[in-house]
Amino acid sequence: MTRPISEKINCPGCGHKQKTTIWTSVNADLNPELRDQILDWSFFNSTCEKCGETRNLIYPFLYHDMRHKFMIRVVLVENEDEFGSELDKLSDEQQSAVETFSREFPDATRDFQKYRHRAVIGPQELVEKIFIFENGFNDYAIEMLKHTMFLAIGKKGGADSIAKMLFDCSSGQPRLVAFMDDGELGTIDFNQKLYDDFVNLLGDYSADQSGRLQVINQAWADEFVSSLS
Ligand SMILES: [Zn+2]
Repeated sequence: MTRPISEKINCPGCGHKQKTTIWTSVNADLNPELRDQILDWSFFNSTCEKCGETRNLIYPFLYHDMRHKFMIRVVLVENEDEFGSELDKLSDEQQSAVETFSREFPDATRDFQKYRHRAVIGPQELVEKIFIFENGFNDYAIEMLKHTMFLAIGKKGGADSIAKMLFDCSSGQPRLVAFMDDGELGTIDFNQKLYDDFVNLLGDYSADQSGRLQVINQAWADEFVSSLS
């Protein structure tokens, strides 16, 4: 279920129209080279054959990993508020993707109960989820860990300068990468003990793989924590 379509896209620089391959869905098992291109970001680049300029080409698509049992829907929204209203529509699309997949790979259908179904905003979050799930981590616990790290750093007066924190395992070792407002990157050691505590704490809650499309991100952790108090 890897689906390329060819579309004519105008170069935003020089206006040249060229045929470009767009992937509406990527299957990491059938096309591992696309998975590699996503992780090294070349998947999201398009080079104009006329002016030679390379630009980001980012569009919504479905990422599917059968071996590690997850499906991630990449969504593009102007702001995070729009994300919620997109989700109902996306859940329907997810359902129809699951049905198509069931027809194409009937043997794998029974595994769908074990699948993680996620929606993410943009490629950065997709790459993060790939690192999380390929390496056997629990994304609920990762978000809680990040949430705690934000609070810990906030006490030292530094949290305001962090725009975003992402899990990374590109070197084979888990770590958190902090994206600072000024564009700098910072690295935060992965607190395995705290992570394990969150896995135990979240237990059954995070084991709910009911096939629903879920959004497990920093906003989820914020809401989850405030729902406890
Ligand atoms: Zn051009």
